Amino acid sequence: MSATVALVGAGPGDPQLLTLRAARLIAAADLLLVDDLVDARVLELARPGARVLAVGKRGGCASTEQAFIHQLMIREARHGARVVRLKGGDPFVFGRGGEECDALRAAGIEVEVVPGITAGIAAPAAIGIPVTDRRHAPGVAFVTGHAQPGGAGADWAALARSGLTLVVYMGVAQAGAISAALIAGGLAGATPAAAISAAHTPRQRSVACTLATLAAAIDGAPIASPAILVIGDVAAAARQPGLQEVLSMA
Ligand code: SAH
Repeated sequence: MSATVALVGAGPGDPQLLTLRAARLIAAADLLLVDDLVDARVLELARPGARVLAVGKRGGCASTEQAFIHQLMIREARHGARVVRLKGGDPFVFGRGGEECDALRAAGIEVEVVPGITAGIAAPAAIGIPVTDRRHAPGVAFVTGHAQPGGAGADWAALARSGLTLVVYMGVAQAGAISAALIAGGLAGATPAAAISAAHTPRQRSVACTLATLAAAIDGAPIASPAILVIGDVAAAARQPGLQEVLSMA
């Protein structure tokens, strides 16, 4: 059998939201390379002898680490290890999965990609927001709030006119600037909005507000990264935090 690496989506947190394929590959793996966002409960599915390496980039030197991750996966797969590259949510949604696939395939390694439930679907669902409710929106746009260094970032004015539900990843720090850009682009400040952090984990927090009050609502919630912002009429369906959540926020 040729050397293979499985690029696996770990979903948003709760292991019950893993695919069966993901759970099976995690349980069979010899080596797991795991991102920051992967829930610790998911790793409990690994077999006792498996090596688990945290290769998150927080605070690290991103480019060196990415090259290191590629080399390690290639070397171990060539030695016959069952390598699972585990990423939060879906590996191909803001997860650098494409880059890792390219590097592996260029080295002659086969890649099995296992999709996962992405945070942009899972977080709105956690508070009852149907992102493409046809009564409100003809579709949904997944956008990063964190432009690549030197990159242009999303065209917020075009998104403001699109009529799409906007689901923003990595947007907490930029929430004020994103709101302002959307309002400047013509989206009403009264448009419903919501922010959900650590969805499907015991630390889940959420707040429902409007586009104009989004940044203030996040500051007061408290909502911290990782969080998803949802902007659009569908966000009016957001359930306010239950009593349990309010108590644990106090
Ligand atoms: N591949 C991942 C996204 C990686 S980018 C996926 O498909 O979900 C990291 C961003 O994802 C975070 O900044 C946040 O916006 C979002 N995110 C990941 N897990 C989350 C969670 N449990 N709750 C809310 N947002 C989450």
